[in-house]
Amino acid sequence: MNDASAPYDVAVVGGGPAGLSAAIALAQTGARTALIARRAPYADNRTTALLGGSVDFLQALDVWPRCRDNAAALQAMRLVDDTGRLIRAPEVRFSAGEIGLEEFGYNIENRLLIAALEQRAAELPALTRFDDEADTVSPADADVTIHTALGKSLRARLVAGADGRQSLCREAAGIAVKRRPLHQAALTFNVGHSRPHRNISTEFHTPQGPCVFVPLPGDRSSVVWVSAPKEAERLIALSDDELSEAAETQSHSILGRLRVEPGRHLFPLAIEQPAHFARHRTALVGEAAHVIPPIGAQGLNLGLRDAADIADLVREAMVSGEDPGAPQVLNRYDSSRRADVLSRTFAIDIANRSLLSDFLPMQSLRAAGLHLIGSFGPLRRIAMREGLAPSWRSTRRVG
Ligand SMILES: Cc1cc2nc3c(=O)[nH]c(=O)nc-3n(C[C@H](O)[C@H](O)[C@H](O)COP(=O)(O)OP(=O)(O)OC[C@H]3O[C@@H](n4cnc5c(N)ncnc54)[C@H](O)[C@@H]3O)c2cc1C
Repeated sequence: MNDASAPYDVAVVGGGPAGLSAAIALAQTGARTALIARRAPYADNRTTALLGGSVDFLQALDVWPRCRDNAAALQAMRLVDDTGRLIRAPEVRFSAGEIGLEEFGYNIENRLLIAALEQRAAELPALTRFDDEADTVSPADADVTIHTALGKSLRARLVAGADGRQSLCREAAGIAVKRRPLHQAALTFNVGHSRPHRNISTEFHTPQGPCVFVPLPGDRSSVVWVSAPKEAERLIALSDDELSEAAETQSHSILGRLRVEPGRHLFPLAIEQPAHFARHRTALVGEAAHVIPPIGAQGLNLGLRDAADIADLVREAMVSGEDPGAPQVLNRYDSSRRADVLSRTFAIDIANRSLLSDFLPMQSLRAAGLHLIGSFGPLRRIAMREGLAPSWRSTRRVG
């Protein structure tokens, strides 16, 4: 396949963490892969709690050794009911040791994860990078034609649409998307603190949403503070001193004195679900395929499972001489992602709704559920394992 005008096996559109991971995984299968993604500094200060198989996947991509030292192990997780309501749930503590693990996963700043992904992507001979944007994407029977903003044109048998929430690839494939705004916003910032986090992530459940302190290397943590949009606007406008104090109060000083670091971002929350995960020579990856609130740290973990699955299916198709963009390959991808994405979205939506609900019976049910999980070991262990990755998921090979 040295003919420059021949279609690529796959073109990945979008260079966020999901797109870069998909491009590396696909190129590692030997598929001739194009990546259309602007090289730009990562624009926000989000971090990712990489859970379950995500670290193994990044290891198989030869990315994990390049960023491991920038990540903090997550060994325990506390859920604290801070609603101040009449019926409150008891504190629940999950420890990785209880399910035979040293840690649930690792928390890393997205910009450092992206830097490691970029470095690995640049090494792969099967991966051609276009520092550009897709301007038009036109799926047809035999392949997909992409015209870029800088005037390039290329064809591919399959497009991996990893172009985020406003996915052009999804629209070009005629895939409808259901959107539900949540009337909540997440404020993100990082803090330094005077007491050690001891690798424990703590989630305070407030009547407006959770506020989570997730360990970073050293005496630092990332904060995701979910609240009503107006409250989020108020918080983001505070001075450094005021926000440090507000965060310290919200954390009940468990980390001692807090000092916010430069940089804060606000994310309006929504749930988005496409009608199909793949169609018309296009497979959706990352937030093009699912937007969920940052509760339980599931979003990019799902995105990495999308990347692993599409790479595996493309490898299998090519080994058996199939066209990687053929309808039967896309159907396999659709069914492999559907159950995972829908079950996670459902669980997170229920967890969020039960926290926000003013309905007393719902509050009692939530408190009873958490009480049961907190006090009954086998149930707690099931919850922990399911929180890391779906138990029914087969282990996929990548690399
Ligand atoms: C506050 C918050 C906290 C979170 N915490 C966690 C967590 O702890 N764990 C977790 O697993 N998930 C978490 N998530 C979710 C996670 O951040 C997202 O799932 C993830 O960043 C999405 O990555 P992506 O690559 O799909 O999309 P994006 O990062 O949005 O990347 C899409 C890329 O495509 C590019 N693009 C768009 N259009 C085009 C085009 N036409 N041509 C070329 N490129 C294009 C964009 O410029 C962008 O670079 C969190 C989310 C939020 C909001």
